[in-house]
Amino acid sequence: MWFVRGKKKVARRQSRRAPARDAHYAEYKEHAREIITARVAYWNQTYQFSYGRIAIKNQRRCWGSCSEKQNLNFNYKIIFLPEALMDYVVVHELCHLAELNHSKHFWAEVAKSFPEYKEHARHLERITHVPARGFPSSVVATQEILA
Ligand SMILES: [Zn+2]
Repeated sequence: MWFVRGKKKVARRQSRRAPARDAHYAEYKEHAREIITARVAYWNQTYQFSYGRIAIKNQRRCWGSCSEKQNLNFNYKIIFLPEALMDYVVVHELCHLAELNHSKHFWAEVAKSFPEYKEHARHLERITHVPARGFPSSVVATQEILA
C-alpha cells in the first residue's frame, strides 16, 4: 500500500495535483510497458506460463494484479523501484497465473526466483511514496534492462 492518506484536506490537495500525476503517467506509460514486458518474458523463462494481455496502470494502492482471464496488470511506477523489487512484483504476478491466491504452493513458485521473497514483500510494504525519478538503487533509467 502506498499514498495512503486519510484527511479530506489532503484529498483536495491531491485532486489539484491530479493533472501532474496524469502527465507523469502519460510520459512513462510506454516506457514502463517496454521494460515490464521484457521483465515478464525474462522471468517467464523459468515458469513457461501462458498469459493474456499486459496492462500498464496508474493505481494508487496496488503494485500489480493478475486476473482470472490471465491478464497481468502492473502499476507503471514499479519501474522506479529498485530493480530487485520491480522484478519481485513481476514474479509475484506471474506466479498468480499458477495460483490466484497466496497459498504455500504460490509462495513456493515465487521462491524459485526469489528465495528471499519475504524480505522484498516487507520492503514493498514500507514504501509509501515512489520518487518520480526512482530510488537511488533503481537502474531502470539505463538501457541494460531492455537488453
Ligand atoms: Zn498476490
